[in-house]
Amino acid sequence: MIKKDGHTHTRFSHHGSTEQLDEYIEHAIKLGFTEYVVTEHAPLPQKFLETFVGPDDARDNSAMAADELLLYKSEVERIQVKYGDQITIKAGFEIDYLKNYESDIRRFLKEQASWIDEIVLSVHFLPNNDGIIAPIDYDPETLSAYFSDERQNPQVLFQRYYDAVMQSVNFDTGLKIPVRVGHITLIRKYQKLLQLPPFDEVIKQQITELLQKIKQKNYQLDFNAAGFSKPYNGESYPTFDIAEQAVKMGIKLIYGSDAHKVDALGLYFDEMNHFIEEVTKE
Ligand SMILES: [Zn+2]
Ligand SMILES: [Zn+2]
Repeated sequence: MIKKDGHTHTRFSHHGSTEQLDEYIEHAIKLGFTEYVVTEHAPLPQKFLETFVGPDDARDNSAMAADELLLYKSEVERIQVKYGDQITIKAGFEIDYLKNYESDIRRFLKEQASWIDEIVLSVHFLPNNDGIIAPIDYDPETLSAYFSDERQNPQVLFQRYYDAVMQSVNFDTGLKIPVRVGHITLIRKYQKLLQLPPFDEVIKQQITELLQKIKQKNYQLDFNAAGFSKPYNGESYPTFDIAEQAVKMGIKLIYGSDAHKVDALGLYFDEMNHFIEEVTKE
């Protein structure tokens, strides 16, 4: 049986631990994983960084820096050799979808295409009412500050988010490798603190259309454990109801720990895997 973690990070995130990649892999082997995809945040487009709004820390520590790319590549290739007889290690990135930077993203992917196996395609930044692009998952204060209008009516915020996720799925990556759509309920990260309501019928319809598009493009869904450990979230991304809907549509869900530290690897794998098995049986 394949036991796969399809979404993991490294010290190149700058917002996780400084543990070596070797420690992640050795722990994953111990946990019985047979396949492991390293999906570090790809460098953000230079033009985007130059015009970034929001906390400096979010700009500097949301992704690897462009000058770390070669080191990242050599690290992944080193551990592929070192542990290759014990676990299948795939090379990848978590790619930030940014509407106004599609050509930059495509150019980057083309440059990296020769050595990457899979990508996670994620939305972490959204334009607000004034057209300012700000992070939605950096901290609750930043979300509230830049999306104060939308916060008055959270369904508007949800709609903005799912519009962007839909755009990310429609985006032509130019690649022929597996694409997983990242954590598609991330907009709920601070739901307990911000007292976000459930999705209304309009949003549920948007999610259904999103899943149909994911299916049509033969993309996979990141079944992401990180929310369980977040104090203001407490659920998987996506939640089990959406995950069930996706499974029944024939979309492949791949567990992702989204680990930014070694001991986050494998968390909630059994619960999430069991859930998939149960709904697949139905
Ligand atoms: Zn992410
Ligand atoms: Zn991630």
